[in-house]
Amino acid sequence: KAVVHWFKTDLRLHDNRSLQKAQELARDNNVPLIGLYILSPEDFTAHCVSPARVDFILRTLQRLQRDLGELDIPLYMEMQEKRKAIPNRVVALCQTWEAHHLFGNIEYEVDELRRDAKLVRLCSGKGIAFNLSHDTCVVPPWLVELAAGAANPDYLEASEEPGSNPRDTRQSFADLFDCKVPTPPGNKTLTEEAKKKFEKLYPAGEHEGLQRLENFLEEKGKQYEKNRNLTSGDGTSVLSPYLAAGSLSARTAVITAKQANKNCLDRNDSSLATWISEVAWRDFYKHVLAHWPFICMNKCFKPEHTNIEWEYDEAKFEAWCEGKTGFPIVDAAMRQLRGSAWMHNRSRMVVSSFLSKDLLIDWRRGERYFMENLIDGDFASNHGGWGFGSNERFDPEEEYIRHWVPELRDIKGKAIHDPYERGAGAQAEKKGYPRPIVEHGASRERALAQFKKALQS
Ligand code: FAD
Repeated sequence: KAVVHWFKTDLRLHDNRSLQKAQELARDNNVPLIGLYILSPEDFTAHCVSPARVDFILRTLQRLQRDLGELDIPLYMEMQEKRKAIPNRVVALCQTWEAHHLFGNIEYEVDELRRDAKLVRLCSGKGIAFNLSHDTCVVPPWLVELAAGAANPDYLEASEEPGSNPRDTRQSFADLFDCKVPTPPGNKTLTEEAKKKFEKLYPAGEHEGLQRLENFLEEKGKQYEKNRNLTSGDGTSVLSPYLAAGSLSARTAVITAKQANKNCLDRNDSSLATWISEVAWRDFYKHVLAHWPFICMNKCFKPEHTNIEWEYDEAKFEAWCEGKTGFPIVDAAMRQLRGSAWMHNRSRMVVSSFLSKDLLIDWRRGERYFMENLIDGDFASNHGGWGFGSNERFDPEEEYIRHWVPELRDIKGKAIHDPYERGAGAQAEKKGYPRPIVEHGASRERALAQFKKALQS
């Protein structure tokens, strides 16, 4: 007999609602607790999970297995090619282990809800109690009214206390399986060079996530309000990979920040309150997803946007992907994505606005490209960032461009922003930097006219 906790996007021991419940039950009944994780290459492909994110998940699993092992909790991992096979496989494993209790945290995406609904049915037929918990948001969906179009940081007042960490089970079940972290599917494998780079940039595991949180709150967090929009600096926490994999709990992040800020949530008064309000956007977009699940089906949040007549210029889309548009800020940002699998929030706004409002290319292509490349790819936040639309000003920072666009590195002063118009064209051309692929003013007008037409039709 055993109790099973099924890990998904909650790859941590600390402050994990479902894991905590599973452990309490296992302890009360003196039966082993087993951790389960199932990877599906088909799922990775269907959800456009980037190779960098797959690598980060696998590295996180390695740390998780070690951490669980220290508490004598075994982690069973396996690969299931077909994602539809997962519910049956979970039930079969529970039967093998004679587990009558299965625990898991809820994922709000439609495919995941359908999978879990199927599992509820299968479990009830086999005498297995499947217990699902709200965990990923600071405040679970449906507990608060959704303010129209904006995250409301005040609702974080409603946030619950973090859960406790699982304690040593002292049951010596860690040797139950000889289980290794699976290797990544072929289409999601990184080059050795990229793997090393990402290991250094984003070391995996919950200890790293918690340490980053602590460092951020002690240092950069105090200057967040001032520095958060500087693309060239490192004014933000870069905790998004950890929050997306669930190796850091958003609840812990917010509660720790609130404590460090003496419970102040007034954004006029403190930088950390601003940071907490940013984390609230993560909750907000997950709430939007939970309330309007059709957004998972490639549909626009605003139905009138369905009427926009997008252009399908492959060459322009390629130039955008490769960071060769001739717009230095756009190119720097897109190369940051390629080079580091992450992009500053401000840059995400600039390039998304550029794709849809300058190139008039369907924002869903950009949304997909982001998922295929980001280490922190999260459906709800990504869809929210793209779908809600942004109109970002172009006031790039020289250092950012110098770092990511080496062709322009030697151009002095403001000319780096627009070399072909500001007298540095010959220098840019010599280094092979492209001319702008569109004329900014004219393309904006054309796009605005298109958007207006769509709204009127
Ligand atoms: P910090 O500024 O330190 O903020 C802390 C945390 O708050 C972040 O880690 C994140 O979890 C949350 N957060 C901050 N800003 C936002 C926001 N605008 N929306 C939602 N959550 C936010 N974020 C993702 O995690 N995954 C994505 O796939 C993603 N795609 C995006 C696409 C577009 C077009 C845009 C405009 C934004 C997207 N974001 C996404 C939101 C945001 O850009 C990142 O969360 C942020 O840049 C991560 O950096 P950080 O951890 O240093 O953030």
